[in-house]
Amino acid sequence: MAMAEEVVAVVEELRASFKAGRTRPAGWRAAQLRGLVRMIEEREEDISDALRADLAKPRMESYLHEISLAKAASTFALKELKNWMKPDKVPASITTFPSSAQIVSEPLGCVLVISAWNYPFLLSIDPVIGAIASGNAVVLKPSEIAPATSALFAKLLPEYVDNSCIKVVEGGVPETTALLDQKWDKIFYTGNGSVGRIVMTAAAKHLTPVALELGGKCPAIVDSDVDLRIAVKRLAVGKWGCNNGQACIAPDYVITTKSFAPELVASLKIVLERFYGQDPLQSEDLSRIVNSNHFHRLTNLIEDKKVSEKIVYGGQTDEKQLKIAPTVLVDVPLDTALMTGEIFGPFLPIVTVEKIEDSIEFINSRTKPLAAYLFTKKKKLQDEFVSNVPAGGMLVNDVALHVANPHLPFGGVGDSGIGSYHGKFSFDCFSHKKAVLIRGFGGEATARYPPYTTEKQKI
Ligand code: NAD
Repeated sequence: MAMAEEVVAVVEELRASFKAGRTRPAGWRAAQLRGLVRMIEEREEDISDALRADLAKPRMESYLHEISLAKAASTFALKELKNWMKPDKVPASITTFPSSAQIVSEPLGCVLVISAWNYPFLLSIDPVIGAIASGNAVVLKPSEIAPATSALFAKLLPEYVDNSCIKVVEGGVPETTALLDQKWDKIFYTGNGSVGRIVMTAAAKHLTPVALELGGKCPAIVDSDVDLRIAVKRLAVGKWGCNNGQACIAPDYVITTKSFAPELVASLKIVLERFYGQDPLQSEDLSRIVNSNHFHRLTNLIEDKKVSEKIVYGGQTDEKQLKIAPTVLVDVPLDTALMTGEIFGPFLPIVTVEKIEDSIEFINSRTKPLAAYLFTKKKKLQDEFVSNVPAGGMLVNDVALHVANPHLPFGGVGDSGIGSYHGKFSFDCFSHKKAVLIRGFGGEATARYPPYTTEKQKI
């Protein structure tokens, strides 16, 4: 079958399954979630092998950032499913007396999940958990840039979940384009903003709602009053210990004061050497760059002389292994590509300001980030940061960990995305909130019925 016909056949099968009501019962949803938990438990090693093949991801990172989070998300959904599915009773209004009112969460129908390569397991399974919990049929299109993980999904999902309602379509741009031509009830996309715009344009043709999980430049402010030893370890693991900087919520750049920058750099050097040794290109604990396109995209950024002369640590590259060492730079000109676009790699530029309070204005003169971080002990600065910095999410005195709390929504704002998920927010992301009002036959208010006599109008 030609690819476009294959896609049409997949969607038709899913629509038929959804229409037949297969995905609605709590029992079906729970069985699929249990299937996912079982898959993660039984195939942990295969998942870790695939991530190693795609990104040379250290096994510990695969476990901490993908496998254990995916398992926690499916177990949490399984535990909360019945609560989430219950209609929300809301107060009745005097205008509609007597009546009862509730909000019923209704599955949207057939949904499409398009995921990205950097956390190829978690970013695929996490939205699928939400889609299943809320009773939808779903197609997952994993990223072709992480081919081992994509192939593993295509092999494993049919073994563990109901293949008439949950399917994997592998492929790149042509396959995704064919999928986007179809009418969906929601499209959930993770990736860069340019493709996000393609997805939203395709969705608009069918009035399909979208969730766009995008990226951007996530700032991290470091004040001079911090416990530097701890702050720098957290900063370093949130940058290089997250896929060697290829993470949407890794700090893209640091802001600190001119006077504190030398101390911060010195501390970063010590921590990085402790983490990755004297020759980080040989470290088993550092992911490689995903492919040669991204390797060249990144090395081009530091080949610019205006950038390379600002390197204070690192800068080594190995094209054969697709490895780039953790690299720290100070005061790179703001008009360079490194400082204007999302880096998504192992370079950490440090921007210096006169006063730490100036950082907020610096961040706010740019597009709204997916995540913003602040290290400080000053309560006043923390409050100002929380109140005055718009961002998808934020974290004070650490980096990236906010994703691990299922009670917090995860998503961007402005250029960093539309919509959010995780925990109950995933369930809501893939549900329609149906307003339901139920009345009895008493409490007739005659004034609402014509003829609108003068007498009635006096009431
Ligand atoms: P990618 O190259 O894997 O692309 C994402 C998906 O889009 C893939 O499934 C791919 O097949 C599809 N795609 C690519 N080009 C397309 C086209 N022309 N038409 C239709 N579909 C197309 O991933 P990427 O974009 O390189 O991912 C990195 C970006 O994603 C960064 O900006 C990062 O910050 C962001 N990101 C965001 C999150 C989040 O949760 N907010 C998570 C991870 C990555």
